Amino acid sequence: MPVADPDSRAGQRYTTPEILDWVARVHAPHDEALARAFDAPEKHGLPAIQLGPSEGKVLELLLKLAGARRVVEVGTLAGYSAIRAARALPADGHVHTIEFESKHARVARENVAAAGLAGTVTVHEGRALEVLPRLVRFGPFDAVFIDADKANYDAYGRWAAENTRTGGLLVGDNAFLFGRLLEDSPEAAAMRRFHEEARAQFDTVCLPTPDGMLLGVRR
Ligand code: MG
Repeated sequence: MPVADPDSRAGQRYTTPEILDWVARVHAPHDEALARAFDAPEKHGLPAIQLGPSEGKVLELLLKLAGARRVVEVGTLAGYSAIRAARALPADGHVHTIEFESKHARVARENVAAAGLAGTVTVHEGRALEVLPRLVRFGPFDAVFIDADKANYDAYGRWAAENTRTGGLLVGDNAFLFGRLLEDSPEAAAMRRFHEEARAQFDTVCLPTPDGMLLGVRR
């Protein structure tokens, strides 16, 4: 009889689309507002690169565990993860989320409003490297979630280290860079720097989600 653990530690996955769907429906179900935001990319011709339902719920629970109140998200897309994040916060909490594409930002604002969170989530439109310095005055932050252009992850991570309170969270999606993390490319080098520099400032782990999720707690 095969012993599973060495295989799973080496990367073997026992998930199937059916299993992923079943556990998401049990643990991370969508209500109307989440479904609207999750389905928005396909409906509006945006890239369907939002977090999966289970990963969105991971983000939500991490923020709850951290007692997060002030959160920054880099990469809004249609607002699905911003809604997940906002729901983890107390009544006076706030999510500042940054989106480069104006069409995405508009769709996200509509979804956030439909979720009843227009007062909790601010969608900032523009290049994250230009918007982030303007958010410093709202910090220090309890959590920074990065899910944006991969070539700038190292810069986003540095900003997070400077603007996150002790005990605060860093979460980075696509930390395996779609399987290209170890390649010889500027993007992969930036993503590796993100990992290594995060490790220097945060207690870190890279959760083996389908594309990796870096998790750090600020020292
Ligand atoms: Mg992502």
